[in-house]
Amino acid sequence: MPADTGEPLFAAYYSYSLNKVADMMKKPGQLRIVQCAPAIRVSLAEEFGMPFGTLTPGKMAAALRRLGFDRVYDTNFGADVTIMEEGTELIRRVTEGGPLPMFTSCCPAWVRFAEIEYPDLLDHLSSCKSPMQMVGALVKTYGAQLDEVEPANIYSVAIMPCTCKQFECDRPEMESDGYRDVDEVLTTRELAYWIKQQGIDFMNLPDEEFDAPLGQYSGAGTIFGVTGGVMEAAIRTGYELLTNEKLPKLQLDFVRGEEGIRVAEVQVGELQLKVAVVAGLQHAYQLLDRVQAGECDYHFIEVMGCPAGCISGGGQPKLMLEKQKIEAYRARKSSIYGHDAASQVRKSHENPFIIKLYDEFLGEPLGHVSHHLLHTTFQKRGPGRQSRSSSDMSVKGHND
Ligand code: SF4
Repeated sequence: MPADTGEPLFAAYYSYSLNKVADMMKKPGQLRIVQCAPAIRVSLAEEFGMPFGTLTPGKMAAALRRLGFDRVYDTNFGADVTIMEEGTELIRRVTEGGPLPMFTSCCPAWVRFAEIEYPDLLDHLSSCKSPMQMVGALVKTYGAQLDEVEPANIYSVAIMPCTCKQFECDRPEMESDGYRDVDEVLTTRELAYWIKQQGIDFMNLPDEEFDAPLGQYSGAGTIFGVTGGVMEAAIRTGYELLTNEKLPKLQLDFVRGEEGIRVAEVQVGELQLKVAVVAGLQHAYQLLDRVQAGECDYHFIEVMGCPAGCISGGGQPKLMLEKQKIEAYRARKSSIYGHDAASQVRKSHENPFIIKLYDEFLGEPLGHVSHHLLHTTFQKRGPGRQSRSSSDMSVKGHND
C-alpha cells in the first residue's frame, strides 16, 4: 500500500466505498478477507482491454493478494452452500408442505421488488441469505475458528457485479452474533480502478489459486452468474438427493435460453417438478400476478433482476451500445458455462469442502447452526401492487 498521506486515495467523485476500503486496509492487526462473485471473473479483464468474456479467476486472485488481502475467498463457495440449503428447503416444502412455488432469494433487487410489490408473497421466498452474505457469515465464524482469530479482527470485503449488493450488505438483519456478515462491497469497475491506480500489471500477473476452504467451488457454484444458473445448480443436486441416482445429463439446456420467462417440467423420481426462470424484473409482474391469483402450479421459480443475470449487473464494465451489450453478455455467459464444463466437480453436494463444512461445522442443511447463520427474514416495504389503483399499474420493474 502507498504511504499514508491522510488524503483520500481515490477522487471523491469516484467512490466513497473504495476510499473506505483503502483506509481500512491500512488498519493493523486485522485479517483482511475478500470474496468475488461468479460473474467478476468473466468481465474484469475487459477493463484491461481484453475481449468480452475473457476468463481470469487466477489473475483476479493474484491481483487481490497484491492489493493486500490475506485470504482470497469466493462467493461461488457460498453458491454451493446456497444449493445445499435452498435445495433442502425446496425438497421439504414439496414433500412435507409449505408455501409453493418457492422463489430464489439470492438477488437483492428481486428481494426488494417482492418486498415492495408483492409483500403477501414473501413467505414464498426461500429463507436463504444470498451466497455473498453466506460467505460473509461463514468467514466470521467457521473461517475465524480455522484462522484462530476473533471475528472483531476480520475485515470482510465482497467484489460484486451489482450496485444493489451494498444495500443488501447494509440490511440490519445481515449480521451474525453482533458482527456484520460483510463489511463493504465494491463493484467490478471499482476493483478495476483500484488495480490500475496501484499500478498492478493485471494481464501479466501469474495465475494464483483461491484460498481453501471458503474459496473452493464447484461448476454449479460458477453458473450462479447467469440467469437459469441457480435453477440448473439446484436441479443437479436436488435430483440426486431425492432419487439417489445420477442425473443423466448435467447441462440443462431448457434453462439456458435468452427469453425473459423460461418454463420447464423435470421428472425427479415420482415428482413432475415444474420450474420457471425469470430474467429481468419487467418480466416478473406477469408471472407474479398469476401466482398471486393462484393460477400457477410451479414448484420453484428463479428470479434475477438483470436481463442476463449477474453477468449484466449494474457494477460491471460499462457498455454504451446495445450491440455491445448483446455481444458482451453472450461472451460472458459462454465463458461461465465453459468454466463450469471444465470444473472437476460440477455439483454442489460433491464439493469436498462443502462436505467438510457440514461435517465439521454446520451439521446438516437447515440445521440449527445453518438457521442461525445462513437464513434470514424479509420485510414488507410497501402496500403491494394489488392495492394500488389501476392508474398506477404501469410502474415498470428495474432493468439494468
Ligand atoms: Fe445484482 Fe443483477 Fe445479479 Fe441481481 S441479477 S444480484 S441485481 S447483478
